[in-house]
Amino acid sequence: MDKPKEECGVVGVYNVNKASEVAYLCMHALQHRGQESAGIVVSDGENITSKKGMGLLSNAFANFDLTKLKGKIATGHVRYSTTGASKPQNTQPLVLDYSEGLVAVAHNGNLTNAKGLRDEYEAHGSIFQTSTDSEVVVHVMAKPGHVAKPNNIGHCLGHHIKGAFSFIFMFKNKMIAVRDPNGFRPLSLGKLDTGYVVASETVAFDQIGAEFIREIEPGEMLTFTESGIKSEFIIDEDKIRPSYCIFEHVYFARPDSFIFGDTVHEVRKNLGKNLAREHPIDADVVIPIPDGGISAAIGFAQAANIPLDFGFIRNHYVGRTFLNPVQAGRSKEVHLKHNVIKNVVRDKKVILVDDSLVRGTTMKRLVQAVKNAGAKEVHLRIPCPPHKYPCYYGVDFATKGELMAANHSIEEMEHILKIDSLRYISIEGLLNSTSQPNNHYCTACFTGCYPLENPDEMTNKYRMEQGSLLTEVES
Ligand code: SF4
Repeated sequence: MDKPKEECGVVGVYNVNKASEVAYLCMHALQHRGQESAGIVVSDGENITSKKGMGLLSNAFANFDLTKLKGKIATGHVRYSTTGASKPQNTQPLVLDYSEGLVAVAHNGNLTNAKGLRDEYEAHGSIFQTSTDSEVVVHVMAKPGHVAKPNNIGHCLGHHIKGAFSFIFMFKNKMIAVRDPNGFRPLSLGKLDTGYVVASETVAFDQIGAEFIREIEPGEMLTFTESGIKSEFIIDEDKIRPSYCIFEHVYFARPDSFIFGDTVHEVRKNLGKNLAREHPIDADVVIPIPDGGISAAIGFAQAANIPLDFGFIRNHYVGRTFLNPVQAGRSKEVHLKHNVIKNVVRDKKVILVDDSLVRGTTMKRLVQAVKNAGAKEVHLRIPCPPHKYPCYYGVDFATKGELMAANHSIEEMEHILKIDSLRYISIEGLLNSTSQPNNHYCTACFTGCYPLENPDEMTNKYRMEQGSLLTEVES
């Protein structure tokens, strides 16, 4: 894969007619966060029903009649597997039966103590239905001594679960939305008709005409019942340390979303402006790599006072490159996906702007395509610092051996990419592109400074064994 893989998107709908249809539309807006599987679980107050499937939402629900999912409470999930292989039983929302009844669980993030907890429970005879880290939470909730009734889930999460989580829990008559105390992943609250909607990104609200109310705070848990919404914190508020994933702004979130106090498009434009100021260069045209590089390229062109043009046209009907399982197939797809408009680059000094540079395979071909079209010089500007470290909080980068910047100097990368210059934005430029205090963001994949103490090797090993990094053949 050339880009980091998206994590997941979660949706919760409470007290809204045709909740399954609302969830479906929201999930459609969140499809960029996960394309491996999708599922919706609905409650009518008495019965819980679900439909899940592999692939894009349109595949998972092909020919399915959503009116079969009756009820006014729903939770939905689009998945990319950061832990647990991509297979039907790992599809979320998980529906599990514990002493308090059925609970549906939708999770975005990565639990850093899941491996240890799972080992502990299995040693005492617990049987797991899936290989995801998300299921561990229900075992923690069900453990004798701290059986979590729907009203004390917060205590379990706050005191026994570590890592990144934006969770939706759905019971027959109740819904809970909760964000980890670092707030790694976004989660927002909206109002729709008689009820409420919770979603990973605000674009989901735009899709259904819901009103954005606010972001759920790091460490905050919202409980939705007939009596209304109750807000509480799962640990003492003075222990909450925001560590928003800065890479959501750089790459993951949709530019039309509002997350972590900023509109993503605006942050990306600021990234481009700061990048242009840090690494000025004389050139004829700024060209974004679509779609991820567009907002930053706009900002770069504005700050550098160089014309912006679209030198690449993306074919939207070609699948995402990372979904292709073999290298040979991927290299062919790059040509299928991006085509150069030759007149835009011919005899020009060109600046290419992409959102990030992880492995470099795609970029090498894009640079070659621009040169083949007659560009005089090709310079690459990247609006995030070099990726050198793994993420333990829900993002599946390439292994360290595949991270280009972890293994090569800038000069070596320029040589490999056959490019005239390569420059990255600094950490300061990155953080100064947002509105929140600089210490409110996680930048670990760039700096190696992890906001949670010692992300242990066992957890990473667990990801390697259980997750997509494992070479695993699905039947
Ligand atoms: S390590 Fe990187 S990708 Fe992971 S949460 Fe931190 S900033 Fe985001």
